[in-house]
Amino acid sequence: MIPLGTTQLTCLLGHPVAHSMSPAMHNNSFKKLGLDYTYLAFDIDENHIKEAIDALKLFNCRGFNLTMPLKQAVIPYLDEISDAAKLCNSVNTVVIDNGRLTGHTTDGIGYMDALKDKGYIITGKVMTLLGAGGAATSVATQAALDGVSEIRIFKRNNSSFIKAVSFAENLSKNSNCLVSVHDMADLDDLGESINDSAIVVNGTNVGMGSDNTSLIPIEFFRKDLIVSDLIYHPSKTKMLLDAEYAGSKIINGKYMLLFQGAAAFKLWTNMDMPIEYIKEKCFSED
Ligand code: NAP
Repeated sequence: MIPLGTTQLTCLLGHPVAHSMSPAMHNNSFKKLGLDYTYLAFDIDENHIKEAIDALKLFNCRGFNLTMPLKQAVIPYLDEISDAAKLCNSVNTVVIDNGRLTGHTTDGIGYMDALKDKGYIITGKVMTLLGAGGAATSVATQAALDGVSEIRIFKRNNSSFIKAVSFAENLSKNSNCLVSVHDMADLDDLGESINDSAIVVNGTNVGMGSDNTSLIPIEFFRKDLIVSDLIYHPSKTKMLLDAEYAGSKIINGKYMLLFQGAAAFKLWTNMDMPIEYIKEKCFSED
């Protein structure tokens, strides 16, 4: 649909944004459903977030997404935030209703929906999660709220270890999931945890782009294990290639990206994104 005088604006704020998939996903969905909306990407850093938000309010924008480095920086400018966004201290979607801004996190919802779409059900199961950054904590939060029984987070024992421990304690307190933090360097502990788990998730940057390394020894994989990488480029990281070779079930991060967008789309339009159409239109190259 060509933008009209009535067209509702949605957009992405962050830096960089030029290679984002979100404009293609949302604009193709609006067009397919005949919705009078448009989605743009604005390259904005932390220094300009207040001005950007003021402008979006003035322009009667319907809502916006946030990507790096703004998922936390946006929080002081919101009127309200969802429980999940509070728990992981991250907002990637904002809805504007009559000038009032509500922040949500749809990264974890997108992750859990992507698993469901593949037929992988992890309710009541144990998860081993590598990393405790923005993406990993969003995934942990939604997995805990959706009924995963235990999450064991493995991360480097560095200055952010304490922060991860307090995130885990708070999430355990606010869900029925036991969340603990372990030192990634302890490979015996990691091996035992994976042995107890239905799913192992890489939420670190290791394996991204040209990095051909994996944090998990290949002998830790087994046939009935789900091995999941939040990374979508490359589509098969070294970890996923090893897991595939060992016969495990694998899933990369691209459908997390799709389903986090679908959850934002629903918040803005109250309509379901045409998932199969968007898979074909925007994600069919691999
Ligand atoms: P982030 O907040 O910077 O967190 C990065 C995490 O990776 C931290 O826990 C960090 O550990 C860990 N890490 C980095 N280098 C490491 C290394 N050499 N060894 C062990 N751990 C290491 O980044 P993020 O936004 O969470 O992104 C993480 C990954 O998720 C990226 O690859 C990104 O592409 C992907 N992602 C995917 C989606 C999607 O929709 N599929 C969405 C968001 C992000 P420390 O805590 O020790 O520093």
